[in-house]
Amino acid sequence: MSRGGPALVWLRRDLRLADNPALHAAALGGRPVVCLFVLDPETERIGAAARWRLGQGLAALSAALEARGQRLILRRGEALATLRAVLAETGARELHWGRLYTPAEIARDRAVKAALRAEGVVVQSYAGALLAEPWQVATGAGGPYRVYTPFWRAIAAGGVAPPLAAPSALGAPAAWPASESLADWRLGAGVARGGAVLARHARVGEQAAAARMAAFLAAAVADYATARDFPAQAGTSGLSEHLALGEIGVRQVWHAALRALHEGAAGAEQFLRELVWREFAAHLMYHFPDLASRAWRPGWEAFAWRGDSADAEAWRRGQTGEPMVDAAMRELYATGRMHNRARMLAASYLTKHLLTDWRVGLAWFAECLTDWDAASNAMGWQWVAGCGPDAAPYFRVFNPATQAGRFDPDGSYRRFWLDPGQAGAEAFLAAVPPGWRIGATTPRLDPLIDLAQGRARALAALGAMTAR
Ligand SMILES: Cc1cc2nc3c(=O)[nH]c(=O)nc-3n(C[C@H](O)[C@H](O)[C@H](O)COP(=O)(O)OP(=O)(O)OC[C@H]3O[C@@H](n4cnc5c(N)ncnc54)[C@H](O)[C@@H]3O)c2cc1C
Repeated sequence: MSRGGPALVWLRRDLRLADNPALHAAALGGRPVVCLFVLDPETERIGAAARWRLGQGLAALSAALEARGQRLILRRGEALATLRAVLAETGARELHWGRLYTPAEIARDRAVKAALRAEGVVVQSYAGALLAEPWQVATGAGGPYRVYTPFWRAIAAGGVAPPLAAPSALGAPAAWPASESLADWRLGAGVARGGAVLARHARVGEQAAAARMAAFLAAAVADYATARDFPAQAGTSGLSEHLALGEIGVRQVWHAALRALHEGAAGAEQFLRELVWREFAAHLMYHFPDLASRAWRPGWEAFAWRGDSADAEAWRRGQTGEPMVDAAMRELYATGRMHNRARMLAASYLTKHLLTDWRVGLAWFAECLTDWDAASNAMGWQWVAGCGPDAAPYFRVFNPATQAGRFDPDGSYRRFWLDPGQAGAEAFLAAVPPGWRIGATTPRLDPLIDLAQGRARALAALGAMTAR
């Protein structure tokens, strides 16, 4: 496909060299390659913590490329115009990228592809961010899956393409196009608590992702099926921040976990199942593009959720008086992460006990999470609220006190985040913005709502709505 000049690779959420089909194809035969990241309006819109984490990921990729005599070219601007400019400056006549699947990204990429092809540029996109293309996995009736278990079976039976090695050689172009400076982009500027707070809890880059996966599969995966539910334990892989930016490819994770399974790692099947939840989220968002903005279940869009309120603000600040929920919200703010069990409890409390619109919670998670993923976040919120595909039924109202007894039996998670003098509580207090300080320095003792009353209120309101 070479047309003279370098091949241009537009990197987006695939910040890695291994198992990167676009980079692989562009570099075939040792041709010169120009790797470009565009901070376009679509990317500018992401939440503060995710933007900060993106900056870290770009720095790591840039260093990895430089170690191989390459560079990461950074440009800010609208995608099509920026790509046109770099194509012209470098003399490249071909462009490669890895496909993304949110509605806005699909619309942008389609428009770019059509415009550049019409101008004679060879444009090629590649699968690599998912285990299978969303349109290739279909039910017997030929439609998208709406239920997880048959989807899991279809993915497991369908086989996953083996990951590609990193290109053996990455040729340099005759002249490098100019690059903007990552520091000038100030991607961490929106993080009120400062990127340094989040940096303590992030591991960044392709090497870190590979090391993390190897360590998890060598040890913790054995107990994963049970340990994954206990927020005080390091029982999960921590790979989500890497998967969100493509610092590791999901096919790499799949095949490594499959190997561990074949070698007898007891928890590996459960781990593969969780990876397929990520896949299910992407599948749903591809087929139901409104997943992040509209209730998926018919009728739920009319439900009179409470909007943003003082109660929702108390939830954001970890001031509900429900220790498990408050610990979870403090973990989110102080680390940019939240354990999956805690996410479910915190989301259930907001949507059920406080009857607050799931989109209020979705937006706060999107602002605070370093592993933010549009589809997983939307699916998670709709699942907990009860309005999503294969969601928990509306009458499933997590009781945070009972859940705490089961999943934080010795109270260590709550103590860590709530008790004065504990490392978690101190980290949270060091991070909170001045406006939060009033009343935020000690955990709230009087609950916002009595749990039994909140549950009864939720059942009455949601039950009446679903009976309509
Ligand atoms: C309300 C809510 C919001 C969420 N928002 C996000 C989000 O923005 N980004 C995100 O990556 N995950 C999200 N999740 C899913 C889940 O909480 C995280 O993927 C998980 O906690 C990440 O930790 P880990 O990498 O150690 O997971 P592990 O337990 O080690 O799982 C391995 C991988 O499987 C995938 N996975 C596991 N559980 C889920 C799940 N329930 N849904 C989708 N994928 C899953 C992730 O890619 C994860 O990295 C959300 C869940 C809920 C309930």
